[in-house]
Amino acid sequence: MPDLSDDHHELIRDLSGIVCDYPYGDPEPLLTTLAEDAARTLHRSGTPQGRRELTGYTLLLHATCWYVAARIFSQSLFASYSRALDGVRATLSPASCTCPDGTHPAAPGPEEGVVLGVYMLTETGRAAYAEDYEFEGAELAAFDCEAFLTGLAEQAANRIREARQEIFGHVDLSHLDARFARGDGALDIVAMQEAIRRTWLNNTGPVALWSARRWLSGQVREEDRIGLFLCMWMGIAQTYEGLPPSYARTLAEALATIDLDASCEHPRHPWSTADANVGSRYRAVVHLYAPDSQPETPVPAELSDRELWECPVQYAELARRALEDLRGWRTMRGGDDEDWAV
Ligand SMILES: [Zn+2]
Ligand SMILES: [Zn+2]
Repeated sequence: MPDLSDDHHELIRDLSGIVCDYPYGDPEPLLTTLAEDAARTLHRSGTPQGRRELTGYTLLLHATCWYVAARIFSQSLFASYSRALDGVRATLSPASCTCPDGTHPAAPGPEEGVVLGVYMLTETGRAAYAEDYEFEGAELAAFDCEAFLTGLAEQAANRIREARQEIFGHVDLSHLDARFARGDGALDIVAMQEAIRRTWLNNTGPVALWSARRWLSGQVREEDRIGLFLCMWMGIAQTYEGLPPSYARTLAEALATIDLDASCEHPRHPWSTADANVGSRYRAVVHLYAPDSQPETPVPAELSDRELWECPVQYAELARRALEDLRGWRTMRGGDDEDWAV
């Protein structure tokens, strides 16, 4: 009875863990190897074995691309996937398709695609698959159609391209300028707080990044500085799943303007009484800028002095916490040092 090699059984197990979002090991090196192996086999696509691999790897790249796009912030892995998928598309000739209209198989889902992809890599695997899953040889051959495979490769390549732009490219936030900055140069800190509060709109990242850019531009009135900084801080602290390098680079740059070695005589600073939860942070900042609309604040009167709010040591405390968060994102999402800059 035909069976897969041990390596291929292991590959199915590892890739299945990844596409089910429960990877056994570090997914980044495994997926890099997959993309490199795919690219390496392209030159032998004229041979029967090379042809099987072309189908198998196209299925595997398609099945795993969602995970790369959504879970791993690694520029070099994105580059490996793009290279492999470009190679696949250049190798395939969709015009060779002779399938009757509407007979292409449906694109397999990630879990199904991983299993099918690995079995399709070898002749033995195909025989085993036909037996295990009660397929006829001709039914399996439908997955070899080059028009079908081109569709999969293009879908995967588009997904990777879009995610790459989002994760590493420039984030356009110009629509926020009119909402957060008034004509006279004053910032609408309350509007920024309202935006952060609408968590269902995923505003935390954009507010943090907008704040960081404004901070770095220097166009900040003295009285807006602490409010703007806290909006950035909250945007970081309240993005638990982590922001990509397209955000983190600029956030790190803004945090680097803070003197982490500042010292003072104050026993305590106001933010320490507010930072325990999202609601009290909101009340503290809005009270600071619009006490009439937000009379309640978690900050006691003896800590409400503006000088305490603006103490360089409080900025240093905030910056240290935020930098820790940024480093946590990097550990969680993987990727290359030069993309993160933290
Ligand atoms: Zn076809
Ligand atoms: Zn102080």
